[in-house]
Amino acid sequence: MAKQRDIRELSLEALTAYMIEIGEKKFRAQQVYDWIWKKQVQSFEEMQNIQKGLRKKLAEAFTFKRVTIDASYKSKDGTVKYAFRLASGHEIEGVLIPTPKRLTACISSQAGCSLDCSFCATGLLPLMHNLKHYEIYDQVQILREEAQKHFGRNLTNIVYMGMGEPLLNYRNVMGSIQMITSEAGLHMSPRRITVSTSGISKMIKKLGEDQVPFEFALSLHAADDEKRTQIMSINKTNDLESLREALLHFYDKTKTRVTYEYCLFRDFNDSLADAKALATFARIIPSKINLIEYNPVPESPFLPSTPAKTQAFVDYLESRKLIVNVRRSRGKDVNGACGQLALREKNTIGNIYSSN
Ligand code: SAH
Ligand code: SF4
Repeated sequence: MAKQRDIRELSLEALTAYMIEIGEKKFRAQQVYDWIWKKQVQSFEEMQNIQKGLRKKLAEAFTFKRVTIDASYKSKDGTVKYAFRLASGHEIEGVLIPTPKRLTACISSQAGCSLDCSFCATGLLPLMHNLKHYEIYDQVQILREEAQKHFGRNLTNIVYMGMGEPLLNYRNVMGSIQMITSEAGLHMSPRRITVSTSGISKMIKKLGEDQVPFEFALSLHAADDEKRTQIMSINKTNDLESLREALLHFYDKTKTRVTYEYCLFRDFNDSLADAKALATFARIIPSKINLIEYNPVPESPFLPSTPAKTQAFVDYLESRKLIVNVRRSRGKDVNGACGQLALREKNTIGNIYSSN
């Protein structure tokens, strides 16, 4: 038997062509499309205004498998971490992060990662699966439902900071953002979406060429090539000079500022000399800096910086008139914090409680 395609591979045009091919009226395509993208159905049977005969035909021709929740864990600080299951059987993870003003969904773009940043738990896993655009979109849909259930609120922000490197799954990431922002989907503002990259220069330039309207974050972590290469092997082929060039191009085309993510590792990149190097690099285009508290990963040698060194680092950057935020870690007790998502794959986690 031919391998069935998920119906969500089809654009509205392709679905319309299919309806005509099987002798159905054109408008059926729009109806099915709405059920899939707007009404969040889980199966063909739920498409109420579609006759039984057509539903059967669709079920024979296509698959329709939404991402499902395998498990969820609620942190003491309110963060909820989810293990999602894909139709392929792979597991990915997402997080809901509530603050008084925001409710952020952190989603994955790949199962595992082809890169191997030495401080990140996902980097310990191989790349197992590039998520399809609808698998990325499903995570948002599910987290929207969960946001209502747990907090009675809508999602305010979406960050591509879960598992994987979004710019190495470019087409599907763009496809998912298209659905999240379009009227046919969730109609969210692209300004509420942030795509984070470890720094693939060629693809940052492409973001510029495509004049993307969403927010963009670059995981810098060191503004010195030698140090950056030590922790991020991607820096061997995408060094700071190539990133500088890519950022200039990106800004030239989009006029969007970049957010630098900078994780403070104790006695590695948290000295005043490191802050100076960062301040110089951060001047290339308009930017803001998020200093991230490191969440230790057992296999990694790094520790979080100390409060005193963190404060001195912040003070220096502010004295250079840079915009700096310190991001406290959330969801640590459920390994739901940045870069810790994949730990579940590696270890069995103790002292967590299921919220299901
Ligand atoms: N691959 C992309 C997006 C996923 S990682 C990227 O690297 O940007 C999202 C963010 O979490 C990145 O800034 C990453 O450097 C950071 N991160 C990874 N492991 C972390 C950890 N253990 N503690 C804190 N931040 C971490
Ligand atoms: Fe991959 Fe990002 Fe983790 Fe690096 S930090 S291993 S790019 S997920």
